[in-house]
Amino acid sequence: MSFQDIIGHATPIAWLRSAMQSNHLAHAYLLIGDEAIGKRMTAMQCIQAMNCDTHADAATPDACETCRSCQQIMAHIHPDVLFIQPDEGQGQHPQIKIERVREIEHHMIYRPLLGPRKICLIDNADRLTIGAANALLKTLEEPPDHCLFLLITSRPSALLTTLKSRCLTVRFSPPSQEQAIAYLMEHRGFSQFDARFISFLTNARLGEAMTIDLDATKAKQQEFFSLLFDDSQSSISAGFDAAEALSKSGHIPEALLWLWTGLRDILLVTIHAQTEFLFHEDHLPTLRELAQRTSPQRILELLDTLHHLEQGLQRNLNSQLRFEQFFLQLREAIPPA
Ligand SMILES: [Zn+2]
Repeated sequence: MSFQDIIGHATPIAWLRSAMQSNHLAHAYLLIGDEAIGKRMTAMQCIQAMNCDTHADAATPDACETCRSCQQIMAHIHPDVLFIQPDEGQGQHPQIKIERVREIEHHMIYRPLLGPRKICLIDNADRLTIGAANALLKTLEEPPDHCLFLLITSRPSALLTTLKSRCLTVRFSPPSQEQAIAYLMEHRGFSQFDARFISFLTNARLGEAMTIDLDATKAKQQEFFSLLFDDSQSSISAGFDAAEALSKSGHIPEALLWLWTGLRDILLVTIHAQTEFLFHEDHLPTLRELAQRTSPQRILELLDTLHHLEQGLQRNLNSQLRFEQFFLQLREAIPPA
């Protein structure tokens, strides 16, 4: 692949390439932006471009992916490039510990063997422990001339301010929905309908959209979106049963997401928005029928309740009670037909 194959990110790519081309690279960059939108892919492409045997003298730096350097970088065995990421097998919150930073110091201090510089890519840099971050800061304060650090994070606020101040920040934004939809149709063979559904759902984060299971996602949509109008709304006690099942399901965040998308769609239909903005366009007749029985104001109130419900759950408040309240309010906001 070449830089052209990366969807979106035109500005950060242009900036990094021109720095490469004019040999004005800083010693450290911090790549920030949402998860799974292409920060790491872009960083890898840059590292390959800097070392590519085929493009070494090209006016516009790029990577061929077939030369020895490109292959070694892809396989993480290039002698001048060190890849650091949080250690697996540490449960939910893997960290980058100080031992890894010692490894970085040891690697970076020697001159490069093959390419123009020694490169260290630190993925999920927000996972550096305080000790590790402070040790890395020392290296970044006086980096050897041949060093390039690429730090990647989707949570820049979790990074030491002093560490951030040592890096040039490169911001990444998700590609446009149009770009993501076209890409998914081409690379996953989705229909336009499915591509739009997945692109909306992942907020055009292609890293996630490329691996998401379409059938499983549609099954979840069916399961949770339909809570807004199916049996759970047939009686008050049915609503209570649904609340109990949901609170014990272990899928509360997913359920909240789908309920939110469903209410959002009903709201859009009540104000006669274009159908192409709907998540659940495949349920348009249902959405229209629900919209006839309610008002934008009542749906906004429900969305507000859902928001508070989510906040309450983060504080470990009783989820069953909160869902019961939600379903009661739902029954009032959209009275049964
Ligand atoms: Zn190459």
